[in-house]
Amino acid sequence: MKKIAVLTSGGDAPGMNAAIRAVVRKSIYHRLKIYGVRRGFVGLINREMHPMQLSSVADIIHRGGTILHTARSPEFLTKEGQKKAIEFLQEEKVEGIVIIGGDGSFRGARVLEEAGFNTVGVPATIDNDIPCTDFCIGFDTAVNTVTDAINKVRDTATSHERTYVIEVMGRNTGHIALIAGLAGGAESIIVPEAPFDLAEVCSRLMRGVQRGKLHSIILVAEGAASAMHVGDEIKRLTQLEVRVIILGHLQRGGTPTAFDRILASRLGAKAVDLLLEGQGDHAIGYCKGEIKAVPYDELFKNKKEFSWDDYQLASILAI
Ligand code: ADP
Repeated sequence: MKKIAVLTSGGDAPGMNAAIRAVVRKSIYHRLKIYGVRRGFVGLINREMHPMQLSSVADIIHRGGTILHTARSPEFLTKEGQKKAIEFLQEEKVEGIVIIGGDGSFRGARVLEEAGFNTVGVPATIDNDIPCTDFCIGFDTAVNTVTDAINKVRDTATSHERTYVIEVMGRNTGHIALIAGLAGGAESIIVPEAPFDLAEVCSRLMRGVQRGKLHSIILVAEGAASAMHVGDEIKRLTQLEVRVIILGHLQRGGTPTAFDRILASRLGAKAVDLLLEGQGDHAIGYCKGEIKAVPYDELFKNKKEFSWDDYQLASILAI
C-alpha cells in the first residue's frame, strides 16, 4: 500500500479545505495511506504528521482556511532545513506528497522532487498568479468578497455622494482588482500591469460628476499603488470628498464559493491520480474547461497572462 502525504503551504486561500478533503477521500477510495502534515514545510521539518481518515475531513468542504494550517518556512529555504524534511519523509517512507499552495510552495516541492519524492502541486492562492491554470483555488471567493464589499460601499457612497478608493490584494498582480472591478462596476481600476495616470483617473471622475453621477468607486491593486496616496491625490486634484478603504486579509477568509469547492475537489482528486500513476513534478491546472497536469518547469518559466480584453472592457463599460 502506498503512503502519501498532503500539506497546505504559503498564503491561505478559501477552498484549501475542500482540496484537502478531495485528496484524503480520493486516496482512501484507492486504498492509499494518507497523512496530513501540519503547517506546510514547517511540519515536515518539525515532524508534525498524522494519519487521516474519512472522518478527518468531514464537515470542512464549506469552511475557509485550512484545517492543516499553513505557514511560510524560512528554514525550508536552507539546505539544513531541507535535509531535516527529507530525512523525515524517508524515515516515514512517504512515497508521494500533494502540496496545496502557490508558486513558492511549488518551488519547495521541487526540492523534494529532486530528493526522490513524487510531488504534485495544487494551485491555491487568491492572487490567481499561477500560469498553469485559468483559476487558482480561492480566487473566485476573493473576487466575490471584493464584489460584495463594492456593493456595500456603493450604497453609502451614493447616500453621501462620495468617491471611494478601495485597495485590494493580489501581491504584484492585478487579477483580483480587474475581475472584481468588472463585477462591481468600478469607475477606474488601477493595476500593476498597466501604467496609470492619476490625472486621467480624475478627469474620468469629473466627467461622471458632470453627468450627475452620485458616487465613484476606484479599485487599486496593492501592487500598483497605495490607496491612501491615490485617495490623497484625487482629493487634491478634484476637491471631491474621498474615502479610502483597505480590504486587507478579509479577502483571504470566508466560505468558499461553489466554484472554488468544485475546482478544489477536481484538482485535489486529479493530484492523487497522478501519484497513483507514479508521476510527480507537475502541478494540476484548470485550463479552458479541462483539468490537466503541467510540469513545474513550464510553470516556473511562464507568467500568468493578464486579461487585457477584460481590462479594456472594464474601461469601456465605466465610460
Ligand atoms: P506561496 O506558496 O503562497 O507562493 P511562499 O512564496 O511564501 O507562498 O512559499 C511558501 C514556502 O515555500 C516558503 O515559506 C518556503 O518554505 C517554500 N519555498 C518558497 N520558495 C522556495 C524555493 N525557491 N526553494 C525552496 N522552498 C521554497
